[in-house]
Amino acid sequence: MPKGKYWNEELETLPREGLTVLQLESLKKELAYAYANSPYYKRAWDAAGVRPDDVKTLADITKFPFIDKKTQRDAQGVGSFLGELAAVPEEQVVFVSTSSGSTGVPTMSPFTKQDFDEFQDVESRIFWQAGMRPADRYVHALNFSLYVGGPDVIGAQNLGALCIWGGTLPSERLIFILKTYQPTCIWTSPSYAWYLGETCVKSGVDPKKDLSIRKIFVAGEMGGSIGATRKAIEDLWRAELYDFYGLSDIFGACAAQCEFHDGLHIAEDHILVETVDLQTGAVIPNGERGELVYTTLRKKARPMIRFRTGDIGRFVPEPCPCGRTHGRIYVDGRKDDMFIVSGVNVYPSDIEYVIRELAEVTGEYTVRIYEQDFTCKYDVTAENAANSGKPDAEVAARVSDALKARTGVKPAKVNILPDGTIERSTHKAKRITDERKLDFSI
Ligand SMILES: [Zn+2]
Repeated sequence: MPKGKYWNEELETLPREGLTVLQLESLKKELAYAYANSPYYKRAWDAAGVRPDDVKTLADITKFPFIDKKTQRDAQGVGSFLGELAAVPEEQVVFVSTSSGSTGVPTMSPFTKQDFDEFQDVESRIFWQAGMRPADRYVHALNFSLYVGGPDVIGAQNLGALCIWGGTLPSERLIFILKTYQPTCIWTSPSYAWYLGETCVKSGVDPKKDLSIRKIFVAGEMGGSIGATRKAIEDLWRAELYDFYGLSDIFGACAAQCEFHDGLHIAEDHILVETVDLQTGAVIPNGERGELVYTTLRKKARPMIRFRTGDIGRFVPEPCPCGRTHGRIYVDGRKDDMFIVSGVNVYPSDIEYVIRELAEVTGEYTVRIYEQDFTCKYDVTAENAANSGKPDAEVAARVSDALKARTGVKPAKVNILPDGTIERSTHKAKRITDERKLDFSI
């Protein structure tokens, strides 16, 4: 058990040169393994004329073809239950998670015992980084059904914390647990952290005084990395919020904030990160916004080589003041959620940023995207904060101007409703309605 601020000091603070050597060694092994054991990779790389031993530096990864969600769906069930992307027979697999994906066809993510143990070691590392210690009591308030984030609780247990497997309990039951057991840490979504705190207040429980939560971990939505959202939740609970990020195709969580809350450290010993142009797939420099592409460096059940995640963001490899050398990702949203108005890319995270920053509105909002006269438009609905003291029209103009300043394009319309009108969300908030009849499937 570590004693200091790092779960694995040598690994987490390895200078970039050492990290590059480690990644290159792992990459060569992973590619050779995938080529030898996965029917899909053998066929795809033969067709592309590339071989694992073509890799001499990390940049050589760009010679290999991409895979994406469609590759996963098409490969699933082909030849065997696990499909032709998998690199092990079924008897070596101990766990699968499934994700529904935007098209509704579930994709399955398999783990060998080694994959699963290493996945949980990364969870322990992330929890430790966020300040969890063996003396903590932790409520894992995430869905356990099929969801890859469910087992992340084992990482907290391996760290030595007292773990309460909360799952998706009804709020009143969860509040009872918070009052009775006085846990110190909880993991949920940002919108649910807000909803739960407000529900506590309404039921006469002050999260700041009556409960002991000091750390809130969030994932699954953008809010945890949006300063104003984070501050609002932190103030409500008087706790520190840490944004986590994961994807079912890799791990429950594979990146998380440290105490500086500036980007999310990604486990670079497990994942090689690239950023590519959304349209062309050309590699773009670190630090610039594009689609994040991941290559697993150690996964055995199903290596993911150049997986286009559909997540839009930046990767910054420079060391962090916390002393960790593993690079940080800044995720702005999903490619599927981005929409283009008058030639400008608009990200839902930018809209959330604006709504959460403005004092005149409550922070709750919905967005409607639609097509009119062959042009993409968006409307935003927000609430006039009870104490704003301003007429709706003035608040609407403020919201519209702020959106123009942040995104570059005004919404077609801003609707302002009374405080408390928009339905408060439990778990993952559905704020965006896209009414355009376009086929985004790839
Ligand atoms: Zn850091």
